[in-house]
Amino acid sequence: MDSKYIESTLSLMDFIQDSPSAFHAVAAASGILDEAGATRLDEKESFSVKAGHSYYVTRNGSSVIAFRMPQTEPTGYAIVAAHTDSPVFKIKDNPEIGTAYTTLNVEAYGGMLMAPWFDRPLSIAGRAYVRKAGGKMEEKLVNFDKDLCQIVNLCIHHNREANKGIEYKVQKDMLPIIGLGEKKNLLREMVAELLETDAKNILDTELYLYNRMHGSIWGQDDEFFSAPKIDNLMCSFSALSAFVDAEDSASSKIQMVALFDNEEVGSGTKQGADSDFLRQVIHRIGCAMGWEFEKRCIVQAGSFMLSADNGHAMHPNYPEKCDVTNKPVINGGVLIKYAGNQKYTTDAFSASYLKNILMDAGVPFQVYFNNSNIVGGSTLGNISTSQVSIPTVDIGAAQLAMHSPYETAGTQDTFNLTEGMKAFFKA
Ligand code: ZN
Repeated sequence: MDSKYIESTLSLMDFIQDSPSAFHAVAAASGILDEAGATRLDEKESFSVKAGHSYYVTRNGSSVIAFRMPQTEPTGYAIVAAHTDSPVFKIKDNPEIGTAYTTLNVEAYGGMLMAPWFDRPLSIAGRAYVRKAGGKMEEKLVNFDKDLCQIVNLCIHHNREANKGIEYKVQKDMLPIIGLGEKKNLLREMVAELLETDAKNILDTELYLYNRMHGSIWGQDDEFFSAPKIDNLMCSFSALSAFVDAEDSASSKIQMVALFDNEEVGSGTKQGADSDFLRQVIHRIGCAMGWEFEKRCIVQAGSFMLSADNGHAMHPNYPEKCDVTNKPVINGGVLIKYAGNQKYTTDAFSASYLKNILMDAGVPFQVYFNNSNIVGGSTLGNISTSQVSIPTVDIGAAQLAMHSPYETAGTQDTFNLTEGMKAFFKA
């Protein structure tokens, strides 16, 4: 395997390692943008922008929009959108259960494959609010970053039917063990200790389980890699890498990366793709430029978006789940996703626009359609379009085991996706 593919996948796996929650993903993205010289803007303060400079703004600490003003008069926005969240188990308040063991009370966030969460080292990450003197409070990231808990399988002897399929109930089956004995208030005290404060100062938390297994490149020729949260940190990382790389481009477009939280639960939050976050940032850039409504409409009409979220590669053991004539393969290049019901935004115009760019750049691509008898997934592109209506194409990389805590994709496709996004930004 060519070292350029290995290197881009290793960089992605580092980003995933730094992103055990959506809050951490945005912190990691902010670090990349800071290092690239982007200026952080605050939604609570007025925006001012200048030609040739990059900016970013976060919302809720779990979504981020970065943009770069072109050197010349802007003619549109070139946007790559992706999501920061993944299906996980969220820990409830007062989570400790039990007397012989301490287990944690959890609920599902998003639609995950549950079976692969069993019998692997897990940890806990998210955020906490700490009470401060004078009625103030402070947000803190939380990451225990150690093998801390595990969802343990019931042995085969106690369920001889286990290999004939199990219906998992979150409230019964998915509660992780964190210790022995009855330990009330354990997690709050652990968070307080980590944050070097008193447990009574922890006002509230949003904490999630995450898989502690590191990413791994594997296969006879290192064709594959597996890691947590490939959906959709692969697209998020590729978008950021391409954005940073496009710094010296001569494009007249306002290059933009929009990473939204809450795609896995329908995007309907203040920081999701169905919020006014993107619309407001675009509006405020127009205001900062002193553009009248007419000019803002003209610039928006000259815009284009890549809605980036991975799709399904053909599974070798279940080829019948695939479309009959369009069978995406691992390392087959940028996946262009279509759906007749328009859950994917791709149309002949938007696909042609992107294919033209990819062909010029020598980036391979392939297409995805659902098998017509199988209901497919959805993503944020068509939701974002209802807030900011611009031509969009749904893309991603072909992957396996989507929504497992350890997903699989192609080592070459990290590079392919990034190169495709670079070409899009520079077009
Ligand atoms: Zn996704």
